[in-house]
Amino acid sequence: MIATRRIDGKARADRLVADVAAATAKLKAQAGIAPGLCAVLVGDDPASKVYVRNKGKAATAAGIQSFQETLPATISEAELLALIARLNADDSVDGILVQLPLPKHIDPQRVIDAIDPGKDVDGFHVENVGHLWSGGMKRALVPCTPYGCLLLLREALPSLTGAEAVVLGRSNIVGKPMAALLLAESCTVSVAHSKTRDLPGVLRRADILVAAVGRPEMVRGDWIKPGAVVIDVGINRVAGPDGKSKLVGDVAFAEAQGIAGAITPVPGGVGPMTIACLLRNTVVAACRRRGRAEPDL
Ligand code: NAP
Repeated sequence: MIATRRIDGKARADRLVADVAAATAKLKAQAGIAPGLCAVLVGDDPASKVYVRNKGKAATAAGIQSFQETLPATISEAELLALIARLNADDSVDGILVQLPLPKHIDPQRVIDAIDPGKDVDGFHVENVGHLWSGGMKRALVPCTPYGCLLLLREALPSLTGAEAVVLGRSNIVGKPMAALLLAESCTVSVAHSKTRDLPGVLRRADILVAAVGRPEMVRGDWIKPGAVVIDVGINRVAGPDGKSKLVGDVAFAEAQGIAGAITPVPGGVGPMTIACLLRNTVVAACRRRGRAEPDL
């Protein structure tokens, strides 16, 4: 029986935020630069409002200027694109974050494509996607959630080189960029999805398993290779035994105990890393846009 270690994403995220705050203070002291992050919120989806508010608070706490543009759900795509153009031209804005989902009449890809790639702190612009796949992280702004997962893996394992990594899920925001990052770390990477045959068999090969599928506790304990490091990206709200709702991941956490070598909990694993990495990307963008050496975060 293996003693499964709990990977504390909250503690790692707190350290990253402190490092971002230190880098921001140094930028201000040495160059008079105050990095700025602008969140664009369209419509009044309650969850999106909470996310944007939390991101704004976290930015301010790390010494990053936080701006917000709030637009009605009825805004046209052309008006939103005009706002993006204004933010692209605004030198006080280093990072532009368009909160998804957008109302149905607006094409999210067209909006993402309109963001200056140098300010695309979500890392969704095709130019950043291309940089990530062709050259790793040096020139890309990397999507926040998979970058956060990578930081947790680097702490959990002495080396990622040569490890069998399986990413469950192939979305543009988590699965695909995660696969690119693991490949850049010299893992042997498989990407599993809804058409994968013998999913448990594929997952059982993984020394590193990243689950980003959005299905509550879909990955069972006996799908996990003994000793594997498991990163659970899933955030699923389900009814608890007391009738109140609770959050669970994509991995059956209790079943993984005694099998996985280490695992991230939900909540308190990947979630806090995502916001911390957004702040990290904003400071990196502020440095790169001005041709300054970027902090190693
Ligand atoms: P998504 O866009 O819905 O993608 C889900 C992926 O899972 C797809 O590639 C899909 O395959 C695959 N899939 C669905 N059902 C499957 C099945 N039965 N067997 C195998 N594969 C299956 O989701 P996402 O945006 O990547 O998010 C995934 C999860 O991560 C969600 O719970 C989300 O809330 C969470 N998340 C958390 C954070 C964080 O900060 N912690 C950030 C982002 C997302 P196909 O491509 O074949 O359809």
